[in-house]
Amino acid sequence: DHVANQIAAGEVVQRPASVVKELLENSIDANATDIKLIIKDAGKTLVQVIDDGKGMSVTDARLSFERHATSKIRNAEDLFQLNTKGFRGEALASIAAIAHVELKTKKEEEELGTAIEIEGSKVVSQEVSVTPSGTSVAVKNLFFNIPARRNFLKSDTVELRHITDEFHRVALAHPNISFTFYHNGGELFNLPQENYRQRIVHVFGSKTNERLVPVEESTEVLKIKGFVGKPEFSKKTKSEQFFFVNNRFIKSPYLNHAVKAAFEGLIKDGYHPSYFLNLTVDPKTIDINIHPTKTEIKFDDEHTLYAILRSSIKHSLGQFNI
Ligand code: ADP
Ligand code: MG
Repeated sequence: DHVANQIAAGEVVQRPASVVKELLENSIDANATDIKLIIKDAGKTLVQVIDDGKGMSVTDARLSFERHATSKIRNAEDLFQLNTKGFRGEALASIAAIAHVELKTKKEEEELGTAIEIEGSKVVSQEVSVTPSGTSVAVKNLFFNIPARRNFLKSDTVELRHITDEFHRVALAHPNISFTFYHNGGELFNLPQENYRQRIVHVFGSKTNERLVPVEESTEVLKIKGFVGKPEFSKKTKSEQFFFVNNRFIKSPYLNHAVKAAFEGLIKDGYHPSYFLNLTVDPKTIDINIHPTKTEIKFDDEHTLYAILRSSIKHSLGQFNI
């Protein structure tokens, strides 16, 4: 039902960057190894994601736009073992309610693929299509049927910054995937498959290399792998602060505080440390289902995580005589 989809869309899709996030995550869930992001006018007229992932059968392609049609959860057990980004099955249905969507998809083992066009939840065409293995989703004219939301969008500069932030998060979480990113025909990023350090340097520039201090820790409840920036390179903005928990970007004021505590006395007031930290915890000990856009998370034992994080960063800085 179109109304329910539009309401859900209000929660899932705030701006073009929300579409970028959902489409990129779907490609990752489909085990893509190469992902292209193509946008026009800061995503206001086009957001397209093309992947080489597992693709969809004709039935799955049609089903993917039904609300709560997720292929990723079969029972309540799965909710606690979640390895995929998506699980609500509402992103594509929500997006299709408020935009023109063109899906092309093909499974590797099939000869021909499927092309579907949807406008405001209505299927306007479905055809057999000659298309490469994988999936392309093009989202055009976002909010075409909700002028108030469309008018509320910020300037292209601001919307592009939100998109770039999402792209950074996904690209950093998946250095083993190659990404390209085009805006209005110009290439903004071209990232090959690489290791984590190379990915950070590729995204933030070659000068980043000399300022990274590795952080590694492995305890029963928490594994940490990543880098912090040397204190003298700390920033006036928080643009280089990344936590990934089980490969998912999250915001955590509490864990951010643990990093700041590790840098205590080393950084001037008003400056912020850079960090790129991958945390691995048992999925049973976290709850990621507290917000539809899924950047917030609840840990069972956050005090312990805080203590481990703070001490392992201090230890790493100490090894570099910082
Ligand atoms: P969710 O990701 O929460 O399952 P979505 O609405 O984002 O919900 O996607 C619905 C379904 O469509 C997914 O469960 C998946 O089966 C299919 N799907 C979406 N995007 C892709 C893709 N790029 N490749 C393969 N399957 C996809
Ligand atoms: Mg999804």
